[in-house]
Formats: sequence, structure tokens, C-alpha cells
Amino acid sequence: MRIRFPRLRARSRQPELVCQQVVELVTDYLEGALSDQDRERFERHLVGCPHCTEYLAQMRETILLAGRVAPEDLTPVMRTELTDLYRRWRAEG
Ligand SMILES: [Zn+2]
Repeated sequence: MRIRFPRLRARSRQPELVCQQVVELVTDYLEGALSDQDRERFERHLVGCPHCTEYLAQMRETILLAGRVAPEDLTPVMRTELTDLYRRWRAEG
């Protein structure tokens, strides 16, 4: 089986975030640590991506339950699961 990685730098003119980047930025976003520009890109991605919107909602809930989430808490299991999920979504088109 051949795995194709997303081409993160393919669109240099419109630097839109890909799902994987959004996943990595979620904790910063929820902590208000993103720059205005990054937050804007983040939210723009959410508008067109129900998967990431749902992920963000889940993260919010997790943080509410746990009090806080350190980036280390997300790895490695959640990231692995998410990567799997996104790969499947991508494959389904
Ligand atoms: Zn997405």
C-alpha cells in the first residue's frame, strides 16, 4: 500500500491550512496563543471543514473535563487516530 502525504507547500499563493495543521494548532487556538493572522486562517479552515469543527468541539470538551490540555497530552494516540481519520476522509473524497 502506498501512502501519499499531503503536499503542505503546494499552494504558496494561498497559504490555507490543511487539516493536519489545524489539529496541531487547536491547543494554541483554544488558549488564545495564535496570532491574529493564524487565528483567521484557522477559523477560515473551520468554515469549510466539518471534520476540524468537530475536532475543535471535542477538544473544547476535553479541556473542560480535564481543566487543561498540554500539547503532550494529545500525543501520540490522538494524533495517530486523527491521522488515520483524516487519511480515510481524504480517501473517500
Ligand atoms: Zn480540516
